[in-house]
Amino acid sequence: MATRTLLVSNRLPFRLVAGKGGYVFERTVGGLATALESYTQRRRPRGGGPGESLWVGWPGEHPPVAAQGAVAERLLEERHAYPVFVDPAEMDRFYNGFCNGTLWPLFHGFSGYATYEPRHWESYRAIQERFRDAVLRVAAPGDTVWIHDYHLMLLPSLLREARPRMRIGFFLHIPFPAYAVFRLLPRRWAREILLGLYGADLVGFHTHEYVQSFLQCALRVLGDGHDLGRIVARERSLRAGAYPIGIDVARHAAAPRRRRRAALPGRGTVARILSVDRLDYTKGIPERLRAFERFLEKYPAWIGRVRLAMVVVPSRIGVVAYRDLKSEVDRAVGRINGRFGTSRWTPVLYLYRALDPDALAEAYRESDIALVTPLRDGMNLVAMEWVASRARNTGVLVLSEAAGASQELAEALQVNPNDMEDVADALHAALRMPLSRQASRLRAMRSRLRRNGVVRWVDHFLADLGSAWDDQERLRARLLGGPSRDTLVGAYRGADRRLLLLDYDGTLAPFALDPRAVRPGPGLLGLLGSLARDRRTSVALVSGRDRATLHRWFGGTPLTLVAEHGAWVCPPEGRWRPLRPLATGWKKGIRPILARQAERLPGSFLEEKTCSIAWHFRPCDPDLAEARVRDVADELIQLTANLDVGVLLGNKVLEVCAGGVNKGGAARMLLDRRPFDFVLAVGDDTTDEEMFRALPGKAYSIRVGMATSHARFNVRGIADVLDLLRDLAAPRARVAGSR
Ligand code: UDP
Repeated sequence: MATRTLLVSNRLPFRLVAGKGGYVFERTVGGLATALESYTQRRRPRGGGPGESLWVGWPGEHPPVAAQGAVAERLLEERHAYPVFVDPAEMDRFYNGFCNGTLWPLFHGFSGYATYEPRHWESYRAIQERFRDAVLRVAAPGDTVWIHDYHLMLLPSLLREARPRMRIGFFLHIPFPAYAVFRLLPRRWAREILLGLYGADLVGFHTHEYVQSFLQCALRVLGDGHDLGRIVARERSLRAGAYPIGIDVARHAAAPRRRRRAALPGRGTVARILSVDRLDYTKGIPERLRAFERFLEKYPAWIGRVRLAMVVVPSRIGVVAYRDLKSEVDRAVGRINGRFGTSRWTPVLYLYRALDPDALAEAYRESDIALVTPLRDGMNLVAMEWVASRARNTGVLVLSEAAGASQELAEALQVNPNDMEDVADALHAALRMPLSRQASRLRAMRSRLRRNGVVRWVDHFLADLGSAWDDQERLRARLLGGPSRDTLVGAYRGADRRLLLLDYDGTLAPFALDPRAVRPGPGLLGLLGSLARDRRTSVALVSGRDRATLHRWFGGTPLTLVAEHGAWVCPPEGRWRPLRPLATGWKKGIRPILARQAERLPGSFLEEKTCSIAWHFRPCDPDLAEARVRDVADELIQLTANLDVGVLLGNKVLEVCAGGVNKGGAARMLLDRRPFDFVLAVGDDTTDEEMFRALPGKAYSIRVGMATSHARFNVRGIADVLDLLRDLAAPRARVAGSR
């Protein structure tokens, strides 16, 4: 079966309309639908048959339950689409409530408009479960699922739970807010939204700024850092990247068609300024009108010679904030026309309705200047479409720097939409711009738009989704489980001389803000004891902890203890001895540097051991810590280039150690003491990598967490390690049914 792409969005690109002879499907206008249409048309095989893509979404109507099955069948057959039917009251809580009452304002930075209603959140979740069920009904193995936009941010993980190996991409068409704004969401919702997105293999945004905001929120809310946009957490790897959407340039650049009537009355004025947007507070319509008014005041020579044609598409009519906005716009238009208009000239021509694509194209072509000044906009397709329509390379785009499109359309006259003077001056500059400069700017933007069209956008995203999914599969192959786990347990059972090298923090015990708080409980002590009491097994705890702590916790047990990353070793019932001569002269120079840093980073503290100094920063603000620690590590590496010391970056700790001291040295020493026929090392951070590297080829090694590693396998977390150790310690019968 050919693989397909399932496009999942809140709305299908058409709506069901009840007619006399049953339901008919009516095309809807909308940025996403239009953008993807060019792609789906190109990909649909000639001669009919099921397309390579299938659209899943809400059809805008709720037929009686008895009719739903037949409608769904027709949709599949005729439109390659599958409907998600939702009861209107629930849809209202979901769509007007959570999507447009909470997420839309918050993600656009209008936190004052956001509401936080638990009922709306519940519907947000419930409806995505409906979407999950619908996708699962139609998805075939091998299908790619591409989920779109803020309505469906929980869906990736809901699908992932049901189909762990599904190829899932997510794209956000609105901005992702900075942490300072995102954190206004109740913490549980914020976590669930991020974890919802974690279900995807690839999460796409329009700009790098949004990618950075998302990564920052992942770090600050969930504590997950990233490596060049790749987060490895909770047994999965997730990539985040910027994929600025394109448009179908050819469609918008078609030769001008002469219509009998102009789309916008008012030809004959010297210059025509056009703006087109949905009525939304993010679009900056009142601000734009104020700026236009200021322009007429400041540059009165243009009075009577320019006209602003403002197309405002009705939107979310039922919502109070939008009704208020409508009255505000009406009043502002009235005021400007009353103040400046004459019997022969009206400064603002205000159309409160949608234009069909032909009329819109004509409006684009008839204008001289596009004034696109949203206060915040994920991308803004109107600006791109207007540029594409300038077949003769004449005209000027005045564009808000707060629109995602400003990154792509760098040659526009960019303005701050809140700054009336700035916008007024830009209009004046646009009206005076020589044709040659208009042409060179438009040529540059149009060729960029042509190179980065919508089909390329889709191809680029889907190609990267494919490779993100491959990453995932590679990671999956490294996960210890099923046959690989059985082989390991079998090898252990068949061996007579076994060595277990176990890290402690993050491997056998979870991290806590205060390192003293993770003292081993009787369960863990019992488990390690029962492994080590078997005469065939040597168990070594290979830790970064100091000797005194290890002694207090594990003294008297049959374990070999290795302290301070391999500086000291203590056999069962033996005495501590250093693995190599201790060099501590370097401490004098390094201590004050670390002490100064610890003072500057609130919450961090130093721990001094015999041959190392550790700077702990687990309790600190993660952003601040990450940036500072990276700098300090670089500085230390340079400063210590001629000293015999090592700089180790562990899990929320930076440690400067006497040279040659690392867990690899300790592992080699233990391995050399006598021959072993089974070796297993388990650890969770970079300091354990030296230990993995020191092992013979046949040894087993496991990295806790899904980070890339020299270890042969990864496990998800501490529970898996303990479970494995319990199987090793248990009588044979436990193995088969242990998981
Ligand atoms: N549009 C339309 N008719 C209109 C006004 C706009 O078909 O009267 C289309 C326009 O061509 C564009 C989309 O609606 O593709 C608006 O997308 P944009 O990103 O500018 O804003 P959004 O409404 O998605 O926030």
